[in-house]
Amino acid sequence: MMKKVNIGILGVQGDIEEHIVSVESAFRETAMDGIVSIVKYPEQIDSINGLIIPGGESTSIGKLSNTPNFHNNIKKKITQGMPVLGTCAGLIFLSNQIVQSPSNISQKLLGALEIETERNAFGRQHDSFQSEFPIPKFGLDKFMGVFIRAPRIRSIGSNVEILAKLNDTIIAVKQGNIIATCFHPELSNTVIFHKYLIELVRETL
Ligand code: GLN
Repeated sequence: MMKKVNIGILGVQGDIEEHIVSVESAFRETAMDGIVSIVKYPEQIDSINGLIIPGGESTSIGKLSNTPNFHNNIKKKITQGMPVLGTCAGLIFLSNQIVQSPSNISQKLLGALEIETERNAFGRQHDSFQSEFPIPKFGLDKFMGVFIRAPRIRSIGSNVEILAKLNDTIIAVKQGNIIATCFHPELSNTVIFHKYLIELVRETL
């Protein structure tokens, strides 16, 4: 019997529960019989078919998952083609270059995604907002994005596709098997990004 698809949520810090609920809805909507697991240890990486890196605080996510082999295992599996969805802090952690705003601190990055990201680009926690924008790839004229102390993407590499912009600012991208958003799709009323991740996972089976 074929093993069930296993979507892992990197579970060291951030909005893990919301992603679990979203993945479960996406499984239902795509009639996929899968499981969702919280990934806390490097050896769990081997058993997942897709990974979500949640929003939260990218410095904490980078630090708390910096145990021997954890970052290496994640990066290796992404390089081998495992689909991954990084949201907000998850996008920052995936980036290969970041600009700190306002202060200049150094933090651990996975560096799998060829983008330059500016942290806290829309202001502080109390400047958080919701805004609508189109996502042509999903055939959507309007998607309501939730931005919580969100980053913005300042520039992209040649293999990176833009999925969404807010006015002129790039806020969602895809690079092969990597999808990343500056906003929180797990807080929207549609699980379209989670369904897309599952679609990418399906293609790898
Ligand atoms: N500003 C946070 C960071 O740099 C990200 C915020 C979020 O994930 N909602 O990690």
